[in-house]
Amino acid sequence: MSGAASRLAPHALLQDRAVAAYLGLAIGDALGATVEFMSTREIESEYGVHERMVGGGWLKLKPGQVTDDTTMALALGESILNSGGIDARSIAEAFDAWMRAKPVDIGNTVRRGLLAFRSTGVPAVPLSEHDAGNGAAMRVLPVALATLGQSEQGVREACRIQAHVTHHHPLSDAATECLALMVQAAVQGADLAQLLHRYAYPLAGEHPAFVFRTKQRRSNPSGYIVETVQAVFQALFDSDSFRGCLVDAVNRGGDADTTGAIAGMLAGALYGTAAIPGAWLKALDPAIRLACARQALALVAMSGMAEPAPAKV
Ligand code: MG
Ligand code: MG
Repeated sequence: MSGAASRLAPHALLQDRAVAAYLGLAIGDALGATVEFMSTREIESEYGVHERMVGGGWLKLKPGQVTDDTTMALALGESILNSGGIDARSIAEAFDAWMRAKPVDIGNTVRRGLLAFRSTGVPAVPLSEHDAGNGAAMRVLPVALATLGQSEQGVREACRIQAHVTHHHPLSDAATECLALMVQAAVQGADLAQLLHRYAYPLAGEHPAFVFRTKQRRSNPSGYIVETVQAVFQALFDSDSFRGCLVDAVNRGGDADTTGAIAGMLAGALYGTAAIPGAWLKALDPAIRLACARQALALVAMSGMAEPAPAKV
């Protein structure tokens, strides 16, 4: 490898993993949505192991169709690209426009926060014990990519700005920041053990509610951020492939589109596009696939960590 090529390689790796994180988010969402709100037992009796992009579910989706987890992340990414940064008002307006366009589903805390923004004009909700849902964590990916190369403190602050538009709770904040930092590390080449020791264990050390290395398998995770993180971390750290991680996550049932989306984001960032099963990629809504790939590259370019990709990519 020439000197020039070896210097370019980390950028190519970073771009590939950023795209894979976005595609993973969307694929996990679409795969999990089929079994959202089903119990592990119900999934077993209907599918054996659920591992195909077949759509359906309580939202009656087309195969490969995504839900709010992906479309909110794309709305957030558009806001970041259009405003040139992480701006609370721009984000709130983007989410409000997203809600007005009648998304296929919407979380209660998101709806409450956006209705508050409409009536007060303030793009941040106050601290609330009711805001520990997973809605801020599920959409954090564009912030993670746009803030690559910034200080950890800067990344954490950016995460909280986007989170507090609808969710303001210490456990939501801690998880959202941790997931963003994990994505950043993974797209820059960190391996599974490094993610475990540098981020997942410290999160559980600081907030013991998140402890995930227990004998109890976290099945049927609710929308509570603690249960989401436990299910995702168990799936991620007890598997060694993109496919294995996602199949494990979504077959736990419960809020399966969201655990699938977050697990897919992390596994994509970790394993790259080559690890994504072709059948899943092919089944993903083509417009979403394109939007995810474009946005990932644009956000990485915005961070200054890699040159804009050639137009043909
Ligand atoms: Mg959803
Ligand atoms: Mg969900």
